[in-house]
Amino acid sequence: MKKPRITIVGSVNMDLVFSTPRMPAVGETIQGQEFHQIPGGKGANQAVAAVRQGADVTLIGRVGEDNFGDRLLECLVDDGVDISALSRQAGMATGVAGILVDGDGHNSIVVTPGANQTLSPAHIDAAATAIKSAQSLVCQLETPLSAVTRAIEIAHQSDVPVIFNPAPMQALSAELLAMVDYLIVNETEASQLSGVPVSDRDSAGIAAVRLLERGVGTVLLTMGAHGVFIAEQGARRFIPAVAVEAVDTTAAGDTFTGAFAVGLAHGLSVVDAGIEAQYAAALAVTKFGAQTSIPHRHEVEQFMT
Ligand code: ATP
Repeated sequence: MKKPRITIVGSVNMDLVFSTPRMPAVGETIQGQEFHQIPGGKGANQAVAAVRQGADVTLIGRVGEDNFGDRLLECLVDDGVDISALSRQAGMATGVAGILVDGDGHNSIVVTPGANQTLSPAHIDAAATAIKSAQSLVCQLETPLSAVTRAIEIAHQSDVPVIFNPAPMQALSAELLAMVDYLIVNETEASQLSGVPVSDRDSAGIAAVRLLERGVGTVLLTMGAHGVFIAEQGARRFIPAVAVEAVDTTAAGDTFTGAFAVGLAHGLSVVDAGIEAQYAAALAVTKFGAQTSIPHRHEVEQFMT
């Protein structure tokens, strides 16, 4: 099968993960159990998910000129991601997420975006060829909306399908949503964007229809361990998640998005790409960490048989 080409605009972070028996109170110091540095950031996670599913992936983004930046670029290159459009910002730190995970698996996270914040429309214009020549563009919102908007405009003008995972959510214009072919949102994001509180399949259906009315082509509303609700004009479908023993759900959504993009680029229908993406995401849930948990294509194929 010919390798699809996918271009992703997004964040690159180092996750600093502390496991702790419980969350410390304000002003308190407690002793943790384990510490791991794990490559993360939604853009990089989705790039790694897509490349491990067999796509050629170009990632457009920014890291600092620091040790985390060196290490994260090395990891992306080791995975086979094209980093020629990933530039470095002098005098600014690479994005970092401090993550505390307690004994019950709950987490508290502080993210400092650092160099991710410096991604501008000019950086996007400089990488326009990578967007125009791709089979799809994938974006999230851990980089500035102005840069993401520019990337979506270029893709839309070139008839390149736009896959948008607006996380973390912020106010989005009707003009922007009208350029989105596939909107991937979790329950919280769907509630925020549609104004309909999503708690079950029925409310997911109502929220998805609201989002279609705002001009989006197809809505994929992911519902964690429950599955994904897919809505297009005239068609609705709920696909249950693949049952697994959850170890850590970090990067489940990013794995879903990256794998969905590859499935579509391979010519699968939206539903079949959604099914494959759910197998990939379920595997990610069975392992600890962000990029450490994202499966390779052969693992997903084996899991599906
Ligand atoms: P995250 O922020 O944790 O990366 P998210 O909130 O963006 O994820 P979710 O809706 O939680 O997205 O999950 C995305 C997909 O991952 C789901 O549609 C499902 O296929 C899969 N998934 C998530 N959690 C589980 C689970 N516990 N068991 C099986 N599959 C899961």
